Amino acid sequence: MKVLVTGGAGFIGSFLAEKLLQKGFEVKILDNFSTGTLKNLSHIQDQVEIVRGDIRSPQDLEKAINGVDAVFHFAANPEVRIGDPGEHFEHNILATYLLLETMRKKNVKDIVFASSSTVYGDAQKLPTPEDSALKPISVYGASKLACESLISSYAHTYGFKGVALRYANVVGPRATRGVIKDFILKLKANPRELEILGDGTQTKSYIWIDDAVDATIFAWERTIEGFEPYNVGSIDAISVKEVADIVVEVMGLRDVSYRFTGGVMGGRGWVGDVKYMHLDIAKLLRMGWSPKYSSREAVRKAAMSLVREIGT
Ligand code: NAD
Repeated sequence: MKVLVTGGAGFIGSFLAEKLLQKGFEVKILDNFSTGTLKNLSHIQDQVEIVRGDIRSPQDLEKAINGVDAVFHFAANPEVRIGDPGEHFEHNILATYLLLETMRKKNVKDIVFASSSTVYGDAQKLPTPEDSALKPISVYGASKLACESLISSYAHTYGFKGVALRYANVVGPRATRGVIKDFILKLKANPRELEILGDGTQTKSYIWIDDAVDATIFAWERTIEGFEPYNVGSIDAISVKEVADIVVEVMGLRDVSYRFTGGVMGGRGWVGDVKYMHLDIAKLLRMGWSPKYSSREAVRKAAMSLVREIGT
C-alpha cells in the first residue's frame, strides 16, 4: 500500500513518514520546504519519493496523489498566533478543499488529517472529550475546524474515510516552533533572564512525538469508515512556568529570573491563546492505545533533544 504524506519534510510529517516505512508502507511526500527540510529526511531520503510542490497547486496535488491509496495531510500553516487570516484560509482551508477534490477525482478516499486541540477554544469541560462544543478562538483553530468539516462532508457525501487527530502540543526533536524551542533560544541569548509570555499559569498538555505518531497510525488502522475525530494528548497538563523550570534545569542554568509579560485577556500569551488545554483521551484509551510519556516527561525529553540539536 502506498501513502502520501503532505508536509512530510516537517517535524511531525518526517517522523510519521519514517514510522510508516517501518510498518511496510510505500511512502510519497509532498512538501514545499517552507519550514520542512531535506535534513529531516536525510536518513530515509532514498526510501521515499519526494514531490517538491505546493498543496495550493492542483497540478502538484495531482502529481502527488497519482498511485497512492491514502493521504496523511500534515502540510499547513501551523502558526497558532494571530497572523494573516488569509494565510490560514489559503494554506489550510483552500488547500484541503483542493486536496479532497483531487482525491475524489482520482478515487482515493482515505484521508488522515492533522487537526488540533484549538478546535475546542476555551473548553467548558477539562479534560475535554471529542463531543464537546467546537468554538475556536483563533483563526488557526477555525481553519482546522473548517478542514474537519470538509472532510466529514466528503465522508458522508462521497464515501471517504476521514480521521482527524486533534493533537495537544506535540514536542520532540526537529520541532520548528513552540514554547520549549522559544525558551531555549531566549536562554541562549540571555541565561540570566527569561521572558515568559502571559502570566505563566497557562496550563496545557504536551505529547512526545513518537506517542503522537503511534496514535495517528493506530487511529487510522482502526477506523473502518465515515469520519472520526480523536483527541491525541498525554494524561496530564502542566503550566508554562513548569515548562520554564524544566528547560532551565535541562540547560543546567541557575538563578534565572522570570519576567512575565502579564499577557492579554486574563494572562493569555497572545490573543487567541487557549489558556487551559487538557484533552480527554478516553476514546483512544478504550481502543487500546496509551501514551508512554506524561506531559512533564515529554517536555523534559524534548528539551534535552532540542538543546542537543540547537547546540551551545
Ligand atoms: P512543520 O512546520 O514542521 O510542518 C509543516 C510542513 O508542511 C513543513 O514541512 C512545510 O514545509 C510544509 N508546508 C507548509 N505549507 C505548505 C504548502 N503550502 N505546500 C506544501 N508543503 C507545505 O509543522 P508541524 O508541527 O510538523 O505540524 C504538522 C501538522 O500538524 C500541521 O498541520 C499542524 O497544524 C498540525 N499540528 C501540529 C501541532 C504541534 O504541536 N506541532 C499540534 C497540532 C496540530
